[in-house]
Amino acid sequence: MIKNKKLSQKGTKHCHDSLNSKRDLGIGLLFRNFAAILMKTIKEIYRLLTEPKRVVIVMHQKPDADAMGSSLGLYHFLTQFGHTVSVISPTNWAEWLKWMNGAENMLDYEYNPEKANAVMEDAEWLFCLDFNAFHRTRQMAPKLKELKCIKILIDHHQQPASEFFDYGISDTSKSSTSEMVYDLILDTGHHDKLNLPIAECLYAGVITDTGSFRFQSATASVHRMAADLKDQGIDHTKIYENLFDNFLENRLRFTGYVLQSRMEIFYEYNTALISVPWKDLVKYQIKTGDTEGLVNYPLSIQGIKLSALIIDRDEEIKCSFRSKGEFDVNTFARNYFEGGGHFNAAGGRSSDSLDQTIQRFIKAIKENASQLQ
Ligand code: 5GP
Ligand code: MN
Repeated sequence: MIKNKKLSQKGTKHCHDSLNSKRDLGIGLLFRNFAAILMKTIKEIYRLLTEPKRVVIVMHQKPDADAMGSSLGLYHFLTQFGHTVSVISPTNWAEWLKWMNGAENMLDYEYNPEKANAVMEDAEWLFCLDFNAFHRTRQMAPKLKELKCIKILIDHHQQPASEFFDYGISDTSKSSTSEMVYDLILDTGHHDKLNLPIAECLYAGVITDTGSFRFQSATASVHRMAADLKDQGIDHTKIYENLFDNFLENRLRFTGYVLQSRMEIFYEYNTALISVPWKDLVKYQIKTGDTEGLVNYPLSIQGIKLSALIIDRDEEIKCSFRSKGEFDVNTFARNYFEGGGHFNAAGGRSSDSLDQTIQRFIKAIKENASQLQ
């Protein structure tokens, strides 16, 4: 249980992870040690599972396959107990995620805030999946904070803002939130409720967050889970195609263009940077989700340890960071770009211009030169 609201009053003030960074270096470690206790405490709600409730599940803005897959997996699980469950995304989601079972019932907060607010105000349980701090839900954040219902966190990002949650599981060793939902289903003793829609949603989440099972986080347990999901009847080839062979021509041409024209390599710092001005997004008609995965390409170059993608999205500058080996992009994103995430994959933002952000990035890699050797 993370009912330590009094322990961390300071926490209520921060809106971005970076403000929290130095203090969290210690707390993050401590928090991991509490994982077992957290697991134990969430067990307290298991006995309430069979009492129908009004439940809302929320994910982070511009959800990826893990945010959506874990949320919809949990949705299909909870509805079997007679709960009334609504799934809300803070923003719209990529076209190529719309095949997921249940996506058609999801609410887009940006599109219909009145309806989403009404559903949240009426909720008894609020599950927050695949994010660690409310600001990851953009305009929904003030609403989520003020809700008086029971708030439950299920997430695998580092340094969660645990003071806002009543119950929770935060486990940074987990490959994906989808794996955590799978563990939860097993832990409640309801493996019998693991049906095909759940299996498809969770498989989609785990395949994307593990880079198709290639990252270290794809443990033996993850492979056992994949086997179990396969036993539920999933067509893994179809799911892969839905996720990775389901784009329009413009996306591939855009990818080719930016790799050719917008990528800079700083060999001295083993770093690559792709920076994309707003006009490129307009020219190639880039939509939500179309830039996902782009940041990974430069890591295929020999010796590159850090890859960054800085995109001018007009409303803000969005940054993505990926690393190989020992360079900690979670800390890097927190220290320089108001963000965070995982050790080898993190994100952030900037309110400067694109050019200023690029200059700040170059300064930042110079300051981190020794860690990038
Ligand atoms: P992406 O680069 O794909 O947006 O994000 C990479 C990872 O970092 C994802 O797991 C994402 O959820 C996380 N992430 C992205 N932006 C932020 C941020 O501002 N704060 C935190 N804590 N995590 C982020
Ligand atoms: Mn995730």
